[in-house]
Amino acid sequence: MMIDLRSDTFTKPSSAMLEAMLKASVGDDVFREDSSVNQLESYAAALFGMESALFCPSGTMTNQIAIKCHTQPGDEVICEKLSHVYNYEGGGIAFNSGCQVRPLEGNLGRLTAIQVQEAINPDDVHKAPTSLVCVENTSNRGGGSCYEMTDLQSIKKVCLDNNIKYHLDGARIWNAMVAKGETPKEYGKLFDSISICLSKGLGAPVGSLLLGNEAFINKARRIRKILGGGMRQAGYLAAAALFALEYNIDRLKLDHDHATMMGNALKNKDFVGEIYPIETNIIIFEVKGSYSAQSFSAFLKKHNILCIPISANQVRMVTHLDVTAVMVKELIGLIEKM
Ligand SMILES: *Cc1c(COP(=O)(O)O)cnc(C)c1O
Repeated sequence: MMIDLRSDTFTKPSSAMLEAMLKASVGDDVFREDSSVNQLESYAAALFGMESALFCPSGTMTNQIAIKCHTQPGDEVICEKLSHVYNYEGGGIAFNSGCQVRPLEGNLGRLTAIQVQEAINPDDVHKAPTSLVCVENTSNRGGGSCYEMTDLQSIKKVCLDNNIKYHLDGARIWNAMVAKGETPKEYGKLFDSISICLSKGLGAPVGSLLLGNEAFINKARRIRKILGGGMRQAGYLAAAALFALEYNIDRLKLDHDHATMMGNALKNKDFVGEIYPIETNIIIFEVKGSYSAQSFSAFLKKHNILCIPISANQVRMVTHLDVTAVMVKELIGLIEKM
């Protein structure tokens, strides 16, 4: 059996989730007649204490729609240089919104309020208007690092003082909330828009949600249609998402514990260099000596363990609900023998 640590996107729906999908009542969601999608959107909005929500096929789409809604062509968007919106969305900020990006070098994917303040362009005809700050929590390329709520609040204040919108790429926001003991409403209070993924650690097969106030979501709904993201009987997917929100959040703690155990096994090996702090379900570490990231990954693959070399000397492993305690034990056993 393969132990797939490449990403938490590889999770497959459980039989209980498939059952919930099978029983979903559906309709044409473009006509707003899919009761399961409607239920998911109002449930998620209430959870975060926000006015409205929109179900989309992917987190790339929810991020890109948010950026489009908050900006005008020629504006500047501030984000951290490792962020998904900048690195992994196909240049979408330029393609969809005609904006330029001001990527800042933060700490493991996280920005500070001072950095944001200093990067805001003055009201000067030479400069692009800064209209949006995007933060990512947890930070994927930062090794699943989490913001402190107080730091997110300080950035919010800078945004308010400068009349700038504030978007959260919360693809793994549940991991951050579980790790830090936070609630969705704390996040709902802070952001103009939030994107959350249902198909990562939560285990739904497809889907992300965009949250915001009613005017914002009405605009977002139009843009989703333009991008070809208006889905018809999407209720089968919404049922999976509702199931995931109900049953798969609390168990994320287990994924975090598994990641910590794996990190501890790696810690004292002579072929392992720097390991990013393990706060959630992502482990990024440096391999050295006789291994490159490539050859290390190839070695694990021979033992039916999949991971991703993310640079010449860095490997990423991600725990999720299809990684069992037995699998973690097997990996740790192998590492100990290396
Ligand atoms: C996975 C991910 C997304 C969205 O990716 P999709 O594959 O388009 O759903 C957005 N942001 C971060 C940080 C991610 O890890």
